[in-house]
Amino acid sequence: MNLTIRILIGMAAGIIVGLVLQGLGVTGLAAFLVDVFDVGGRIFVASLQLMVVPLVLVSLICGASSLSDGASLGRLGGKTLGLYLATTAIAISIALTIALAISPGEGAGGIPQQEYVPRPAPGLKDVIVNIFPTNPIAAMAEGKMLQVIVFALLVGVAITRAGEAGARIKTFFESVNEILMQLIMMLINLAPYGIFCLMARLFSEVGWEQILELAKYFFTVVAALVIHLSVVYPTILVLLARVSPVTFFGKMRSTMLVAFSTSSSGATLPVTLRAVKERLGVDNRVASFSVPLGATINMDGTAIMQGVATVFIAQFYGIDLVFTDFLMVVLTATLASIGTAAVPGVGLITLAMVLNQVGLPVEGIALIIGVDRLLDMMRTAVNVSGDATVATTVASSEDMLDREILNSHDTTVDPGQDSAKDPTTGPAA
Ligand code: ASP
Repeated sequence: MNLTIRILIGMAAGIIVGLVLQGLGVTGLAAFLVDVFDVGGRIFVASLQLMVVPLVLVSLICGASSLSDGASLGRLGGKTLGLYLATTAIAISIALTIALAISPGEGAGGIPQQEYVPRPAPGLKDVIVNIFPTNPIAAMAEGKMLQVIVFALLVGVAITRAGEAGARIKTFFESVNEILMQLIMMLINLAPYGIFCLMARLFSEVGWEQILELAKYFFTVVAALVIHLSVVYPTILVLLARVSPVTFFGKMRSTMLVAFSTSSSGATLPVTLRAVKERLGVDNRVASFSVPLGATINMDGTAIMQGVATVFIAQFYGIDLVFTDFLMVVLTATLASIGTAAVPGVGLITLAMVLNQVGLPVEGIALIIGVDRLLDMMRTAVNVSGDATVATTVASSEDMLDREILNSHDTTVDPGQDSAKDPTTGPAA
């Protein structure tokens, strides 16, 4: 059966089971089942996360060592970074515009506040210094993605300059890369079960009353996410990459579902990377750099939540924001995501930075926290689509997009069979 359909069945079954358990009251056998699903879901996410550091390291070393010169690396980096910043700035501008039109915070006075203790956000100076590793092993052990990216890039460039020794090592890394890709494929086959567990556990405790109380805020965020996903990305894909959005989203759908269920662009990274390379046809030289970088620094969906939340909190407290405040919000939200890891709920930490910047009370976050878990799922799906859109666009502009793979009929019966590298099936399988 088609992988997306299997994932959708797992997701729907998980939601139904979760809701039934919630209806029964999570005690006794139901509580035991919720624990079982919790274990299953956590093992699934852990097995995805397990892949992230080795995959980023190895695929980026392969990618960087295949670039002909430093100039092309600089050009790729510049384009990728520019597009990431631009799409995030557009995302947050859309969010601010819609939020100002809808005014979700007006008349919201009766919302009960939840407990929220803001975690300290890193300062900009630290963020920049922390991109550069002092100890690559520590960076990998602690999963500091930007540091791993910098290290892998340096090693990759050095390999190209190291003549025969470099060529030998490059072959080694290419072999490891192939093995890692097989490992991802094995994991993707388990996704429907993992997603079932994640959904069952989550929906056994979703608080529907909070969504009703915060309906205006909730649906404003959803509207902005939908507009960004269905207007901005397709426009970029058509105008800059000449790629059909229908094809793009067709190839990305199972990745988006994994992002939705795990709420983590970081944990989804192996699945995103594989989809971008082997389903969209983006060359590894572009994908290995832009996808991990995007998972770390490009969070359009998160920026959208922050834009709406800022307006909501300002209106709730009756604080007027002026035009320069909005510019500040755009700037801070665009830059804030750079220093934070792509894990569930991190958007709230960066939101604290944004609120601080424009002088709004950080305690306001307590107002919206009740619906954040569900919004996190949706914005993470937008975040990974943004990473893939930019990777595809940069690849197209560099003539590194294999349109035969992109336009190949995609069966997804077994993710192993759509591997473009598999000589027995070919790109069109
Ligand atoms: N969960 C999001 C991600 O990993 C970040 C966030 O918005 O909290 O992409």
